[in-house]
Amino acid sequence: MDKIQMKTPLVEMDGDEMTRILWKMIKEELLIPFVDLKTEYYDLGLEYRDETDDQVTVDSAMAAKKYGVAVKCATITPNAARVKEYNLKEMWKSPNGTIRAIMDGTVFRAPIIVKGIEPNVRTWKKPITIARHAYGDVYKAAEMKIPGPGKCELVYTAADGSEQRELIHDFQGAGILQGQHNLNESIESFARSCFNYALDTMQDLWFSTKDTISKKYDHTFKDIFQDIYDKEYEEKFKKAGITYFYTLIDDAVARVIKSEGGYVWACKNYDGDVMSDMIATAFGSLSMMTSVLVSPDGKFEYEAAHGTVQRHYYKYLAGEETSTNPVATIFAWSGALRKRGELDGLTELMQFSENLEQATIDTIEQGTMTKDLSAISTLQNVNAVNSLEFIQAIRSNLEKLQAGK
Ligand code: NAD
Repeated sequence: MDKIQMKTPLVEMDGDEMTRILWKMIKEELLIPFVDLKTEYYDLGLEYRDETDDQVTVDSAMAAKKYGVAVKCATITPNAARVKEYNLKEMWKSPNGTIRAIMDGTVFRAPIIVKGIEPNVRTWKKPITIARHAYGDVYKAAEMKIPGPGKCELVYTAADGSEQRELIHDFQGAGILQGQHNLNESIESFARSCFNYALDTMQDLWFSTKDTISKKYDHTFKDIFQDIYDKEYEEKFKKAGITYFYTLIDDAVARVIKSEGGYVWACKNYDGDVMSDMIATAFGSLSMMTSVLVSPDGKFEYEAAHGTVQRHYYKYLAGEETSTNPVATIFAWSGALRKRGELDGLTELMQFSENLEQATIDTIEQGTMTKDLSAISTLQNVNAVNSLEFIQAIRSNLEKLQAGK
């Protein structure tokens, strides 16, 4: 069988620990036998990040900006223990943070749905994708403990020295105080990323804030989204047959629980933090959650939402068999290859991505899965296997799908 050809290389960002082992298996078993894989390889493994003073992370993000599509393996974000373990020159920053800052993107997280892993919410049939704004609000707030009686005000001193003041509270006793901010520019780029992603995945977009209570702060989020939608996206949404829907956060929560799923839910920073954990847990498992960083100018970086699965890696190093779930990492590859296929007009590559995802889902639905899934599966005859056996079972399904194309 001829291998599927690619035009433009994918930016490949290799990573750490157990996910690095899975990465190699996925390439060898599920990609290279079928695709004439073209990648520009960056080793984001911690040793090489240290060796290059983290320049490799910056270079990989620049390459993602240049080529438009990247696929990333999970990486260690060093803490004090890791500095010791790897004898690092420095406690390097989170690669994801560095890449996000360079690509200026929004992260979209969506669960992979299979029969036998049932959501806790009975009505959910399709994935719910959370888009979380990743700048400002409570994450960049200034806080104060107020020891006793006194007046607290917001003071804005403009560049020309003029002032605006607003009374926060006239304290009669001890209390607490917090000052939050956000930037119109950041909210605008968040909005554009969300509208583009909804169009890209042909799903409705929901956005929610508490604008009835926060008449200036949250209302500005609502107004910016509406303004950009009216000016730049209304026509495109109509053409695609999808809708933009704004509602209060409390109404959104109630609707989400009663919904079937199948939409993108854009959330402010804190709401997205809380809601993405709720959605991931309620859909079944972190190991079945995909994640893609989308920049406002339409560049994509695909990855799994989970980390490097350190505990399994130490078992692996000790020669023990591991049953780490590779599904989210496989979907990171299929997502990136599909996007590359779309951008380069390669229908065979797009079909291959579909087949790879279908083969993965089929394998689980036939009862073959890793231990994290067998522990929660509602299927009758479950065959819990190790990572390589699972990947090989997917390969066998994939070969059938590719032969029948
Ligand atoms: P983790 O996601 O690796 O593991 C959290 C828990 O979920 C563990 O109990 C693990 O066994 C389980 N789990 C996660 N993915 C699984 C899978 N595919 N199959 C089976 N079980 C799975 O997170 P952690 O333990 O907090 O962090 C480990 C390392 O990963 C840290 O060094 C951290 O910095 C890094 N990390 C990286 C990313 C990223 O690159 N996107 C994200 C989170 C954590």
